[in-house]
Amino acid sequence: MTRSFKTLDNMGDIAGKRVLVREDLNVPMADGEVTDDTRLRATVPTVTELADRGAIVVLLAHFGRPKGVRQPELSLALLTRPYTVLLGREVRFIDDQGAADVIATMEPGQIGILENTRFDPGEEKNATETVERLAALGDLYVNDAFSAAHRAHASTEGLAHVLPAFAGRQMEAELDALDKALGNPEHPVAAVVGGAKVSTKLDVLEHLVVKVDHLIIGGGMANTFLAARGVDVGKSLCEHDLTGTAEAILDAADKAGCTVHLPYDVVVAKEFAANPQSLRTCNVHEVAADEMILDVGPAATEALADVLKTCRTLVWNGPLGAFETPPFDAATVALAKTAAALTKEGTLVSVAGGGDTVAALNQAGVADDFSFVSTAGGAFLEWMEGKELPGVAALTR
Ligand code: ADP
Ligand code: MG
Repeated sequence: MTRSFKTLDNMGDIAGKRVLVREDLNVPMADGEVTDDTRLRATVPTVTELADRGAIVVLLAHFGRPKGVRQPELSLALLTRPYTVLLGREVRFIDDQGAADVIATMEPGQIGILENTRFDPGEEKNATETVERLAALGDLYVNDAFSAAHRAHASTEGLAHVLPAFAGRQMEAELDALDKALGNPEHPVAAVVGGAKVSTKLDVLEHLVVKVDHLIIGGGMANTFLAARGVDVGKSLCEHDLTGTAEAILDAADKAGCTVHLPYDVVVAKEFAANPQSLRTCNVHEVAADEMILDVGPAATEALADVLKTCRTLVWNGPLGAFETPPFDAATVALAKTAAALTKEGTLVSVAGGGDTVAALNQAGVADDFSFVSTAGGAFLEWMEGKELPGVAALTR
């Protein structure tokens, strides 16, 4: 595969070199314990490889939102012990006062975490002084934090301009997966876009209609599209002020040869609660004034599974229904299982992302069967919008 960025494979001999590695260590903590170590585990391949190759590894990361003010409760010193336990290797904390002297005492293969990059007000401003201060601590720069790549900060973007810059293993895997899904995908490509509101995903929808062959719209946002087509959606979540925008997206899809799939049967209820008395399935034209649409119906879900069977690539953001409340997870779970099965058979490349989407795929028990599941949140959405991410652009310049 020809790539537009360099990876750890292109670093050459790094024994004894100081390598600054931008990671995402922004994990949730309670009472000094890490409550979800997903992000920490994702850093292990890059950090251990660099250390095993004899580099002096200095991790750069932000932690919380200190806004340029030193706050003890947001010190990365708090992470040194949990990270040491996770890696099974000694990790030292490097205070940013006198960091160069500490790093000068480190041996090849040693790992340290530099203090929270956001204690410096120049970090988020991408200030030249901050970039220079950090660059003086290293010989080479590795960016392994795709999830922070939508920000042009000193540690995520600035450093790539002043030190030889490489993508870490995690960044490399994410960029390759995203390229396969939307950059250079095998057609036909299907996109599933769901979630609560059209207003949060307008840019995503506008970008996708010119990129994909099938656009599957579900979730609350489908109601706005149904309303645009003259369907009475009762008391469903619906952005009535955006029906004009929805129509424009449908027109753009038409012009681009993208088939839009909206649900034709739906699961409705009079109250939003788990397994409500008033639960029923009906045609979209039969929703009563006091009912709300909470999931895509079984007939439409089956038709969507048939669409996926004709596709080579799937990109998915947003659940098809109010999946947190049973039984409104049924369509999301069923379609996710179909996508997972097709991926296992080798006919589909499936890439998904988004906070609630990842939760829904975990709930369906299929996250591991997708080709790639991005936990990058905001960066994933900006990529779905077709935006250039500054942290990625700086690696590929
Ligand atoms: P992601 O975090 O994956 O980007 P979103 O935040 O856009 O996804 O959307 C997820 C939310 O959308 C969930 O909380 C889900 O309950 C809600 N949702 C999906 N379908 C409906 C619906 N028909 N009515 C109300 N809320 C819905
Ligand atoms: Mg969400």
